[in-house]
Amino acid sequence: MLVVDDVRVTFGDTAALDGASLEVGTDEIVAILGPSGCGKSTLLRAIAGLQPIDSGRVSFDGEDLSTLPPHRRGFGLMFQDYALFPHRSVGRNVRFGLEMQDTPAATADARVAEVLEMVGLTGWQPRPIDGLSGGEAQRVALARTLAPRPRLVLLDEPLGSLDRLLRDRLVSEIRQILTRASTPAIYVTHDHDEAERVSDRTLIMRAGRIVATGTLSEIRAASTDPWVQDFVEIQGSDSKGSR
Ligand code: ADP
Repeated sequence: MLVVDDVRVTFGDTAALDGASLEVGTDEIVAILGPSGCGKSTLLRAIAGLQPIDSGRVSFDGEDLSTLPPHRRGFGLMFQDYALFPHRSVGRNVRFGLEMQDTPAATADARVAEVLEMVGLTGWQPRPIDGLSGGEAQRVALARTLAPRPRLVLLDEPLGSLDRLLRDRLVSEIRQILTRASTPAIYVTHDHDEAERVSDRTLIMRAGRIVATGTLSEIRAASTDPWVQDFVEIQGSDSKGSR
């Protein structure tokens, strides 16, 4: 289980994380939903170990992660700026994390085949990255993330650059694939529909902290916070706006 407890990150006068706390259980897929600038990416980067924290604690299964660098945390990252390597084939892209772990070649081959099958791209190892559609590239990126068997997957607006129709389809696929792989995940988005469809539970984030949790209908029914009420009423929108 991942536990984030009272984490603060400041940039100059801005508190990007202002006492952020959350828990993600084994096999649970959690969405973090909030307006632009509320600290979603900073939170994910802090969990990944890419962003030093000023105070608070990030732990996994009881182990404090503060001294563990990103590559030792056992987390899989699928961030928009983690592009595929354009000059490597599909198979060599997916193999990357396994090579980093010095996985024996035969084991790596088998694992690459297995994760490509998982994302519906059986036998695509030799294909070049150049010819892939946006949706295929995202599936390869997901296969690359899952190949080293991460204990938690962190996704930061992974479908942000795709058109609506494709996003709708891929978000359901991502949920199925993560569920089948039994991998817990945190999925950051500013899109209500995407959050609801990908996750077991949505965390609403505002101004650097988590302010509500549940399915969107549970939050609607339970929250007494007018900002949260307003925010969850905005359906399937690009909810850019005030923090
Ligand atoms: P979100 O992902 O929800 O859009 P971010 O985590 O990117 O929000 O940003 C939260 C706040 O922290 C914003 O006010 C943003 O401008 C600020 N911020 C994020 N990263 C940096 C940085 N490297 N330097 C200065 N300010 C930053």
